[in-house]
Amino acid sequence: MAKKIPADIGPATRLVTGGRRPEWTGPVVNPPVWRASTHLYEDSAAQQAGLKVNQDGVFHYGARGGPTQWALADALTELEPGAAGTMLYPTGLAAPVMALLAVLKAGDELLVSDNSYDPSRTFAVKALRGYGITTRFFDPHDVDGFAAAISDRSRAVLLENPGSVSLEMCDIPALTQAAKARGLVVLLDNTWAGPTGFQALKHGVDLSILALTKHVGGHSDVMLGSVTANAEWYPRLRRHSLMLGQQASPDDCALALRGLRTMGVRLERSCSSALKVAEWLQGRPEVAAVLFPMLPGAPGHDLWKRDFSGGCGLMTIVMAGKDTAARDALVDALGLFGIGYSWGGFESLALGSHPERDRDVMPWPPRGIDPANRHAVRLWIGLEEPQDLIADLERGLAAWSAA
Ligand SMILES: *Cc1c(COP(=O)(O)O)cnc(C)c1O
Repeated sequence: MAKKIPADIGPATRLVTGGRRPEWTGPVVNPPVWRASTHLYEDSAAQQAGLKVNQDGVFHYGARGGPTQWALADALTELEPGAAGTMLYPTGLAAPVMALLAVLKAGDELLVSDNSYDPSRTFAVKALRGYGITTRFFDPHDVDGFAAAISDRSRAVLLENPGSVSLEMCDIPALTQAAKARGLVVLLDNTWAGPTGFQALKHGVDLSILALTKHVGGHSDVMLGSVTANAEWYPRLRRHSLMLGQQASPDDCALALRGLRTMGVRLERSCSSALKVAEWLQGRPEVAAVLFPMLPGAPGHDLWKRDFSGGCGLMTIVMAGKDTAARDALVDALGLFGIGYSWGGFESLALGSHPERDRDVMPWPPRGIDPANRHAVRLWIGLEEPQDLIADLERGLAAWSAA
């Protein structure tokens, strides 16, 4: 018999209960991996009747997914108050791409916050141009400037909060209000905080984008993305994504579901360790700035405190002067931090970053930091002992000083 899940549960409980329909899991806890292209019908009449039913959770053909994908999509929808449904994609990048293609048409203009994830920026500029859609970048700190930049051709705005690498916080309610006043569709890449850290749809966003590759997967072994949308946009998003042949692998969805169940405790650990590391780094003379909105006193902390209930252990440090060779010496001296792209796994990562290459209108370093300090290292704080990570970074800073 199916358990009755109470309605008034918190996000951490939802991470455990979400998407676990008994007709998909059977007597076991996790839904099996339903690998399927063909779904079989009872008879021709059922097959012909089935053609008329096109909705989530109905067997039809593998291209519309099966119970493993539906369980993950359901779990993500249940985590986002105000959501009507979730579409899944084979990479995180495919999520903003498909959301934008569902919303925009030839002749439209897209406004993109200048500190967005760089492949999203590249897609907007280079691929959308070929479809007759123009892109304009804006500084999300300047709400009045954003409102003034909206034209009669503007159709949608793509936000990311905090910004990629530079981690500036913007005022999402103020930006969505300005966007809605002119009838714009609001898309937000919410990968950093995720649905347990920031309730995107409740703050006026129409389509909330996640790279599940990061802390939902959580173990650096899966590529996956999702878009969760409100009732106004979900049907169109679903129609467009299926039309464009988008579906995620059931094996990858099973890994993401497994990751989702423990995401709450992993994020708690990553955040508390990241705060310890960030506080320590903030006191070091080699470091000019710690860009990490959860850290009291850091840029954007007030907005984070006002709008967010969580975050993750991704931060960027700006070194005090010197050059890229010294920055690379720091990264290379680290023994516990791997050097590699992505983040959100159990293991810590460090990466020399060049945000200035992916900005059109925003300054690097961010305002308030002396421009002599510009060499940045992005840090993902994993699940190791924070004291071990701090000792590792101390070795890195010594190598930076010696370089
Ligand atoms: C990593 C990332 C993506 C893309 O995810 P992939 O799975 O690597 O394609 C999109 N947005 C943000 C903010 C990311 O950090």
